[in-house]
Amino acid sequence: MDNIFPWCEEIWTNLLFAKKKNRFPHAILFHGNNGVGKSELAFQLAHYLLCASPTKNEQPCLICKDCVLFSAGTHGDFYNISPEENSKNIGIDQIRNLKIAAHQKPQRNNIKIFVIANANKMTISAANALLKVLEEPPGDSIFILTSERKHFLSPTILSRCHQYQFSSPSDELTEQWLLSDPALVFTKEIIKDATFWSLGSPLLAQKLLKDGVISEYQTCLAPLLAFFSKKESLAFLSKSWQGKSLVNILYVSQVACYYLLKGTWTFDFNKKRVYQWSRKIIDIKKMTATGIALNEALLLDMLLAE
Ligand SMILES: [Zn+2]
Repeated sequence: MDNIFPWCEEIWTNLLFAKKKNRFPHAILFHGNNGVGKSELAFQLAHYLLCASPTKNEQPCLICKDCVLFSAGTHGDFYNISPEENSKNIGIDQIRNLKIAAHQKPQRNNIKIFVIANANKMTISAANALLKVLEEPPGDSIFILTSERKHFLSPTILSRCHQYQFSSPSDELTEQWLLSDPALVFTKEIIKDATFWSLGSPLLAQKLLKDGVISEYQTCLAPLLAFFSKKESLAFLSKSWQGKSLVNILYVSQVACYYLLKGTWTFDFNKKRVYQWSRKIIDIKKMTATGIALNEALLLDMLLAE
């Protein structure tokens, strides 16, 4: 299990066991928080299932033609369905194409694999079309869906899928995993900080380290906590945040509110102020999610308004 994330090993073992017993499900749902490796495992599974001669320890061999084609992203029996460019949704046409492909013969092997990452992004008509495929699945097709929450999908789709829940690993396991990554050369303290900021998503912790944002987060956090605990004024906070990016400020604010309201930090703070702040973050995030270009300075003013 060399390349399998340590917190995914149990799910991986269960899937291999099902294959060995010829009980491999035709439709699978991986659900769990963002950044816990659902899409990565879906791809690893697809690669393994398509490999012509997996290794003794159940890994793709990496040298057969199927492995080469898969690694190049050109394997004819692998389909990766995700929102099209300039769209946030997986549309009906994409699922119609999936249906056509699912009813064709495999090009190389005896199976075809369809990965639908963030399946909750399917439009209603796309989800209905997929349901029809899942109700009468072609015997040689395997569908692997992922979703952050399973209830984002309809109960009828859920009833057709074998479900695997991805749990966030403990902070200790995340830290061990990050420390074992030769590409990440950081001190234990910085790795601990990254884990703290990732809220249980190891892949996010890894990204934060690679992006080098941890020190900026820490710099944004201190004045915010001083403000929440009534030690400093809003003017002080505003001045301290000058020149910081809005994205980082929003993320730091969100994480700080989360830890404060969860009771992780026990120092005295103004609860009303934190609740108000949380609501403002939600409003700003809704505005930014529309995709319309907004003035960062104005949004920051909204956050810093009395
Ligand atoms: Zn292979």
